[in-house]
Amino acid sequence: MNDNYYGMPIERYDSLMEATGPCVRLTEEEMKQGWHFCGDWDDLLIHVDSVEFNHCNCKHMEPFRTEERKKAQEERKAKCNEALDRLAILDEELGLDKLLREMRDDTTL
Ligand SMILES: [Zn+2]
Repeated sequence: MNDNYYGMPIERYDSLMEATGPCVRLTEEEMKQGWHFCGDWDDLLIHVDSVEFNHCNCKHMEPFRTEERKKAQEERKAKCNEALDRLAILDEELGLDKLLREMRDDTTL
């Protein structure tokens, strides 16, 4: 697996997320790179290139909402939807949707 998350070492990310309270501080460098504890995500530490940033409304993160980044997010969303559509077709072809329905029906008996 990756040993970093949007350029931040996993250990650093984990230690920031494990610690709570006012003692938790991002470095200026990390903030410049686009990290913040997001109120819209229950103070989850998120990066501006992560999917979570799609649903962040923090005013102070406005400078990071560049046209380029918005476009990249849109493209990712489109790719994701395309993948989901393909999966749905595959489900149908393999009969997985029917199988799942049968399994669900079984458990309600
Ligand atoms: Zn936010």
